[in-house]
Amino acid sequence: MAPVPTQKNIVCIGGNSGPMGAALQWRDDPIPGYRMILIEEKSHYNFVFAFPRAAVISGFEKELFIPYQNMFYGDDTLGKVVHARAIAIHEHHIELDREVPEFGKRIDFEYLMYCAGTTIPAPGRLPTNTKEGGIAMLKKYQQVIKEAKKPIIIGAGAVGLELAAEIKEHYPEKDVTLMHSRTRYMPKYMKSFDAMTYNILKKHGVKQLLGDRVVLPKQGFPLEVGPVKIQTKSGRTVEGDLAMLCIGMTPNSELLQELSPKSVDPKSKLVLVKDTMQIQDERYPHFFAAGDVIDHSDVKTGHFAWMQGLAAMHNIRKLINGASYDELDPYVSKGVALIKLYLGKKDAVLQTNALGKLVALGSWISGRSIPYNIFADAGWAWMGLDNKKDPQVLDL
Ligand SMILES: Cc1cc2nc3c(=O)[nH]c(=O)nc-3n(C[C@H](O)[C@H](O)[C@H](O)COP(=O)(O)OP(=O)(O)OC[C@H]3O[C@@H](n4cnc5c(N)ncnc54)[C@H](O)[C@@H]3O)c2cc1C
Repeated sequence: MAPVPTQKNIVCIGGNSGPMGAALQWRDDPIPGYRMILIEEKSHYNFVFAFPRAAVISGFEKELFIPYQNMFYGDDTLGKVVHARAIAIHEHHIELDREVPEFGKRIDFEYLMYCAGTTIPAPGRLPTNTKEGGIAMLKKYQQVIKEAKKPIIIGAGAVGLELAAEIKEHYPEKDVTLMHSRTRYMPKYMKSFDAMTYNILKKHGVKQLLGDRVVLPKQGFPLEVGPVKIQTKSGRTVEGDLAMLCIGMTPNSELLQELSPKSVDPKSKLVLVKDTMQIQDERYPHFFAAGDVIDHSDVKTGHFAWMQGLAAMHNIRKLINGASYDELDPYVSKGVALIKLYLGKKDAVLQTNALGKLVALGSWISGRSIPYNIFADAGWAWMGLDNKKDPQVLDL
């Protein structure tokens, strides 16, 4: 359906996990007179959860780039995904880097959700905005990993851990080294989570070097196979033929910072929010933020980004329905660290409170029935498409 000119916009910068729960709720329960606009520079929803595996194993790359066109059932009166880069935020409008149908280079809004996420090195996220570019990058990783005999992974956050496990499981003959500056993995999670993760990697045969920080060369590491010498702070040298950096997360907060410097932490660059998910700047009470870009005690996972986005939308709905800014509700976090780490086809570590108590569960329970595409089918369902019933959608 064509947009109604009098409709007001709830604009979201970013179209990944932060606004996803809110958008799915909105498309089935919109408020008349309003619609949701996601400004997302990527042409397709990037199902990053499976990128570590797809950087090693080929054949399902297309499934990880999901078109947004049916996100709001193709009904522009419910919402729309605009593919452009937001380049400036004003009190009630966004400037875009290009002309887009219906809006030109300017989108007006009543409420803003800032969900611009973070930038991390490939292959956790890919520095390209197209599906073709993303698939090409994953294939490049597959090719160099296949060629390398002694790959080294630097940084053992979730991406580094998953990548190391996938490489060693798929290529048991390779000498895979995982280097980590801390003495344990995933410190926000239970100690047993760390122990199980360590043991699974050990079982796979990954060489694990912990508690020693790598001295990073200024120019980084090239994505090519060739002799590489990694130096550590303690003076150790580790030799290999491919180095992959899996550390360094930069919050994408600079846009908001330009308009509202006080709402961005000068050190961490994370966006400061109130418990209502409004940004910490009284001049912009109609600005909300959620997801990896915010400074919050929640762990940085898709699950929590989703919940925070829902909390922001809950308050936006209240405002639309006539509440005052004093009547907004706080976001009540579960306050626990939850995650599932996929460490190959049959191994995983899950930290969950689904059974009441917070527990870490190893492969015996959490390693069962891990789909080859790490549940990418769910991403297709979010986008209103069924990749299994209708495989042609894979080429959209
Ligand atoms: C490899 C990997 C595996 C993971 N596995 C899991 C998992 O198993 N479970 C889990 O819960 N979490 C997992 N996570 C974490 C999860 O992906 C993130 O927590 C989640 O994606 C955060 O969502 P977000 O929307 O806040 O930010 P992001 O996902 O970073 O999304 C931000 C979006 O904003 C867009 N954007 C930024 N600036 C602009 C701009 N100026 N204009 C237009 N668009 C812009 C970006 O293109 C991007 O799409 C994983 C992450 C990675 C990298």
